[in-house]
Amino acid sequence: MLEVKNITKSFYQKKVLDNFSFKVNKGEIVCLVGPSGGGKTTLLRCISGLEEMDAGEIWLENELIDPINQHSGSQIGVVFQDFNLFPHLSVMENLTLAPMLVTKENKGEAQEKAEEILEKLDLIERKNHYPYQLSGGQKQRVAIARALLMRPKVLCYDEPTSALDPSLRDSVAQNILSLKEEGIIQIVVTHDHDFAKKIANQLIEVASIG
Ligand code: ATP
Repeated sequence: MLEVKNITKSFYQKKVLDNFSFKVNKGEIVCLVGPSGGGKTTLLRCISGLEEMDAGEIWLENELIDPINQHSGSQIGVVFQDFNLFPHLSVMENLTLAPMLVTKENKGEAQEKAEEILEKLDLIERKNHYPYQLSGGQKQRVAIARALLMRPKVLCYDEPTSALDPSLRDSVAQNILSLKEEGIIQIVVTHDHDFAKKIANQLIEVASIG
């Protein structure tokens, strides 16, 4: 279980999150919805350690974690809205970089795991391609594959459908739903209510305060 407890965050004098709390069980999907500027991305960034919170706690499987440090960085993964792939690296190189640098896997081992996941996500034919040679949907799947290779317990997505053709929405939903079966907790920021309803176990409204 992931437990987000009393997260508070201000930018300058403006409070964006005030004692925000929620709980998610293993394998569940939470969609964070709400008005623009309400703090959804800020909440996701605090949970994934990209933003320092002013107060609050994150508990993962009954352990208090610090999302900003390296170790938790691999427990809580992020799929960025613009995918954040390294443009000068091939798909395979994008996937093996972190396992080799962060978790110190050797190249052969890292490549083997990457191939396994590329097969699963129907990307194996693309392993030597560069990001510019991929469609938006393929880039997103590479970004998901890259996050999964760090074996996260929690995977966060910021607007996973916004950079994609609407016709790809269902396949993004399928990808997210298929990861449920592996027990990964998924937290998804989205403006898209139909998409959220399709995938979410919990819809959580993050509304502006003050
Ligand atoms: P949207 O749906 O438009 O993406 P959101 O709900 O994700 O919005 P956030 O991006 O979290 O909202 O922003 C919440 C508030 O915090 C906004 O008023 C925004 O301007 C402010 N904010 C976010 N990041 C920063 C920052 N780094 N510095 C200053 N203010 C920030």
